[in-house]
Amino acid sequence: MCGIVGAIAQRDVMGILVEGLRRLEYRGYDSSGVAIVNQAGQIERTRRVGKVQELAQALKDKPLSGGTGIAHTRWATHGVPSEDNAHPHVSGDGALSNNIAVVHNGIIENHQELREKLVKAGYVFVSQTDTEVIAHLVHLELQTSESLLDAVQKSVKQFEGAYGTVVLDSNTPEKIVVARSGSPLVIGLGLDENFIASDMMALLPVTRNFMFLEEGDVAQITRFDVEVYDVDGNQVQRESKEHDVSHEAGDKGEYRHFMMKEIFEQPTAVRNTLENGFNGDELNLDAFGSNAAKIFDEIEHVQIIACGTSYHSGMVAR
Ligand code: GLU
Repeated sequence: MCGIVGAIAQRDVMGILVEGLRRLEYRGYDSSGVAIVNQAGQIERTRRVGKVQELAQALKDKPLSGGTGIAHTRWATHGVPSEDNAHPHVSGDGALSNNIAVVHNGIIENHQELREKLVKAGYVFVSQTDTEVIAHLVHLELQTSESLLDAVQKSVKQFEGAYGTVVLDSNTPEKIVVARSGSPLVIGLGLDENFIASDMMALLPVTRNFMFLEEGDVAQITRFDVEVYDVDGNQVQRESKEHDVSHEAGDKGEYRHFMMKEIFEQPTAVRNTLENGFNGDELNLDAFGSNAAKIFDEIEHVQIIACGTSYHSGMVAR
């Protein structure tokens, strides 16, 4: 499961989206892409296999401009890593009039069944991904729906599997619709601009104010507000919180790779993790929950089961 970034703003969002993807690179991915609604109200899309840097270079050579956009780093589950399979995926009345663009993390388990239904309805699939069914199904539902929100709500009811997805319609660029089930999504709240990401790290350069969606939520995001609907379609309020996360965790800092950073941060990470668990040399049972004293009393022996590299961590723990 990889990275999602979305933005709806008055300013150009390309830079924000690319920086967001860079901040999600630590999760690993094989390709990336961006779709933005341009001034003429059309979807423009750039995708690349390989590093986000490849995408950034392509966008530097040929920038995309607009205030509504979505971006993705993909870790292929259905279909090889290729430009055709990279997200965003699009749908519309024909190749030249695509108005729907979609990014998705996770897996649509019943994609084959949906694909058959959509092919019968006349849709032509151009990728091997499960994700493309989202784009076409939303487009199909939109024909008989009042709004994009309505179409996405009808579509997610037909999905089986885990997904975090963000959908835009270039005919209504003043909003984006997002849905989550089994894959995290967080909304970043700005001043007359709003954002979405699979991890708040991606949005730290633009906001510290976050709203976390819950399982089954579908939300419509405009520049000015966020409407959230729960799994039963009832409008609900989700709390927003100010987050004090340092930029550090999402940055490579002085290190060449995230893996190097992780290795060198281990002493501090272990120290921080253990700090709460001890009062001096004494175990601080309160740190392990209200039942901890009882649970620790009842333990007769501890078995550490591990293989490969974790076998060595097991030996240290012993
Ligand atoms: N299943 C989708 C694909 O293969 C999304 C994978 C992901 O989470 O990046 O394209």
